[in-house]
Amino acid sequence: MATNIVAYFIFQLWGFTMNVRIEDTCVACGVCVDICPDVFEMGDDIAVALVEKVPSTLIEKVEEAAYDCPVDAIILTKVE
Ligand code: SF4
Repeated sequence: MATNIVAYFIFQLWGFTMNVRIEDTCVACGVCVDICPDVFEMGDDIAVALVEKVPSTLIEKVEEAAYDCPVDAIILTKVE
């Protein structure tokens, strides 16, 4: 989780946009879907991201979902 927290601060300080993906380590707890249903939904076994590039209006919610994910399965990467 610490790595994700550092990434969040970098994204916010420099105003980067970001891509989002979910790793297979997802335990299907549903937290991300509850926080940001515009970006996350439950698939057959794990959560899935409905978009690759996060809309700027939803970055804060996606960051919150990644922060609250119990297994750090939500991966955020800077868009160059
Ligand atoms: S919060 Fe994390 S573990 Fe829970 S459904 Fe979303 S990606 Fe999966």
